[in-house]
Order: sequence, then C-alpha cells, then structure tokens
Amino acid sequence: MNRPSYGSNDPIAAHATPLAESALAVIRSSGPGCIDLVAKLFSRPKALREAPGNTIVHGWIQNSRGEKVDEVLLSVFRSPRSYTGEDAVDISCHGGIATARSVLQCLLDGGFRQALPGEFTFRAFMNGKLDLTRSESVVELIEAKTDESRRHALDRLSGALESEIKAIKEELVHALAATELFLDYSEDDGVSGIAEDGLALDSENSDTIPMAAAEAAGLMPDRPRIEQALRDLETLAASYRIEKLYRDGALVAIAGRPNAGKSSLFNRLIKEERSIVTDIPGTTRDYIEAWISLEGIPVRLVDTAGLRHAEDPIEQIGVERSRSILQTADLILFLVDGKGGFQDADVTLLQEYQSEALWQNRKAPPILVVWNKVDVAPLAEHGLRNALPVFAVSAKTGIGIPELAHAMKAALEENTAPAGLQQRSTVAGESQGRAAVGIASERQKALVDRAVAALREALQLADSHAPLDLIAPELRDAVEALGEITGEVSTAEILETMFSRFCVGK
Ligand code: GDP
Repeated sequence: MNRPSYGSNDPIAAHATPLAESALAVIRSSGPGCIDLVAKLFSRPKALREAPGNTIVHGWIQNSRGEKVDEVLLSVFRSPRSYTGEDAVDISCHGGIATARSVLQCLLDGGFRQALPGEFTFRAFMNGKLDLTRSESVVELIEAKTDESRRHALDRLSGALESEIKAIKEELVHALAATELFLDYSEDDGVSGIAEDGLALDSENSDTIPMAAAEAAGLMPDRPRIEQALRDLETLAASYRIEKLYRDGALVAIAGRPNAGKSSLFNRLIKEERSIVTDIPGTTRDYIEAWISLEGIPVRLVDTAGLRHAEDPIEQIGVERSRSILQTADLILFLVDGKGGFQDADVTLLQEYQSEALWQNRKAPPILVVWNKVDVAPLAEHGLRNALPVFAVSAKTGIGIPELAHAMKAALEENTAPAGLQQRSTVAGESQGRAAVGIASERQKALVDRAVAALREALQLADSHAPLDLIAPELRDAVEALGEITGEVSTAEILETMFSRFCVGK
C-alpha cells in the first residue's frame, strides 16, 4: 500500500495536551528507537532502557548541555503494546507553556521529528491497532460536545461499528462466494443460471447444488442473505443523520416580537439545559447565542433579539443577520407574549416563517409556538390557522420548560431522521441481536450508500434475469465498499484526507 505523506516511521513527538497554564502536560513520543532516544535526555537512562512496557519511570529531562529542564514521569510502552503499536514514551511534565515547550524542544533536538496532525493515530491504523471507523471515532471523541455525543463516539471506538460492518460484509462475502462458485460451475458445465430452489446453494456444501434446473436464470444464490444485508445497510445509512445531529449539533432560533420574553427564555434554557460554551468569539451582539446540551443533543441556541422591523440602518444590519441565522435554523421557537395574547403581528410573522419564500431551497424547519408568561396569563384560545403545537411556559418561573425541552428534542430528532429512527436504540443491527450503532462520518456514509446502490442493482439485475456474471461485480463492489469503511481496502488518498483532520499529538 502507498503510504500518505506522513513520511517514514521515524521517531515522532508532539504535545498531547493544550499549551496552557495547567498542573500537568503530556508530551507524546513514538517510533523505533524512541525509548533509547528519550533515555539520552533522561537523568536515569539505565532505568528507562531496562523498564518493562506499561511501567512508569521517574526522573528528569535534561537538555543537550546536561541541564535539568523538568522533573517528569515517563510512561513506557513497548511495541506492540502501545497506542501506535510502536515503542512509545509519554512524558508527563509540569504544565504551563514554557515547561512543556522546553521539554518538547529537548526531544526535537534529540532526534525526534515533530509529529504531523493525526500521525500517532495513523501509525496505530497502519500497525493494525485500530480500524478506520475506530480511528475516526478518536476525532469524534475529542470533538464531542455533550455526554451523549461522547457516548456515541465511544461506541464506535470500542469497535461496535467495525463489528457491524464486518458482520454484514461476511454475509455478502458468503453470497459472493456462492455466486462465484456457481459461475465456476457454469463455466465448466455450460450452465448459465440457478435452480428454482437455488437459494439453498451453499458454498460449503457444493454437492447439493441443483445444477439440473440451472436454466431458471435470474434466481441468485443466497438472495435472502443479500436482502438482509441490504436492509442492514439501509438502516445504517439512515442512522447517519441522527448520529450527525449528536456529533455536530443543531441550531435552534428563538424568535418572536419584542417583549415576548425571548431573552428570558434563552437564559432559562441555558440554566436548565446546561450551557456548554458561551460567548462564542466572532459573534456580534446582533443576536446572542450559547451552546447547550438539550437532553444530550448539542444545541446552538440563538436569541434573535435583533429581529424586528428597524428604521435605523445599523439596526437594519442586525435584522439581516438575525434573518440569515433564522434561515439556517433547524428548529424555531416562536414566542408569543401571553400577556397580550396572539396579535395580528404574531400571525403575520408566523406566516412569514411558514411561507416557502423564506426558505428558498430548503424544507422549512419545524416551528414550536411558545406561549410565554403562563404564570400570569393562562393559555387563551388562539386562532392559528395552521395547527402548530403550542407550549405554555413561563420563562420567569420555569413552568413548562422541561416539556418544551422534551418537545424540542423530539422535533429535532424527527426532523433529522426518517420515521422509526428517532430512538438510538432502534438503530442498525438490533434484529440480529448485534449492538445498536450508527455511522458518523461523511466518508462512512458515502461508502454505505455505494454498497446499498450496488446491492440494489444486483437484486434488480437478478429480477430481470440477468446472468450471474453481471451480478457478481455488483456484489464485489458492495464488499469492497464495506472493506473501505473499516480500512481493509484503503488508498493513500483516503488515509491522507482522513488523518489530516486530526489535531497534532493524536
Ligand atoms: P424579549 O424582548 O423578547 O427578549 O423579552 P424579554 O426576555 O426581555 O422579556 C420582556 C419582559 O417580559 C421582561 O420584563 C421580562 O421580565 C418579562 N417576562 C419574560 N418572561 C416572563 C414570564 O414567563 N413571566 C412573566 N410574568 N414575565 C416575563
């Protein structure tokens, strides 16, 4: 296999923790001769050289002039029992920018090369420690915004997706083998199809092939297996959108007329649904936003306070910004001031949000109408023409907020996934008793789609009584696509693209 441009497997080193003031920092090193190279910079070289794998050695890192740089603990890993599969040393030094930098500099001066982004994980993949789905989940894990996102990534890291793909692939390989075996037979014996009961064709028991009825072309060996594999793959493909929701999160915009209580609801949701990050740099004050964990879904909550029909040109810019935010929203909370009840202006605004013109080339996001201030104004009759769900809440006291949060989550999941896939527990593989798991990257999705297309084509060819030698390549393509997902089949280009997304030190 061609190797991506990560260079050879020379010893590499990098910061594994952010350069910031902290109690500890970790510098990671890996590669053949790595332990010996670190030993040359260490106050107790003999102890390090003789240390068994998976042990810790205490001492000092020294620079080339023999000056002490920092007191450290070295975690020693010996090939193949390390993250990369190579000899490796993790250096735990004191935190802080200057110390961590100096320790890494000693390593770079001492024969290590600065690792490229993702190079450690790349080596782990090349050395068979992780398949591609697990390698990708390492990035997911690092980027996980909520506990639930983390759990999804961890499932993949523990190999649940790898097992699922391999199980489906095994079924297809079996079907492909049966098809090819039959093709071999037909070449030998001049037969061109398969028996009525040809579904029983079994590559492990080829004596039972009912060759006599072979002219019943169009029946494919192992058809039920192929159909089952197709169903499993379709379920996996459908899981992508919900996994993406947990990985990337969703944009929820709070809209409504001034004084409806948008800012109050924004603050209430941040408080009750736990804010993950606030004050995202680079955003203006035209609208206020924060990331919250909405029952596990990362949600970028935006208060479109600037959205009103302004005369002032500067304010007008804010209105435009708010509108463009609204146009990318995955869900809109439309607030109504319960004190004043539904006004004509509310209905006009709502109609605008529901009109296709606003959404141009996309489907309008779901809208939840929120009757605010229910603490002082009970939900009154409303004459909404389009029956939108209305939730009575009090941003001030918290009444109805848990129900609203629940409805928001349901709306996001419903809007994201096809019916039946809202619950993670119903995701792929359950019918066979395999662990429920979904796919999380565009790469995986494209390959699952390719396998699905190939299997559909194979079944269609079979339905139109096409000869098996036209069907076999489709099955082979599906098997190959699945092999690419786990990395059994991979090209330098794919690997390079994938691993370069990692941060340095991973
Ligand atoms: P915005 O202009 O839509 O952002 O509205 P604000 O959040 O600034 O709220 C407008 C006014 O309504 C403020 O005086 C709030 O204290 C009040 N308010 C907001 N939510 C509630 C509520 O649930 N109950 C009551 N009684 N007052 C509320």
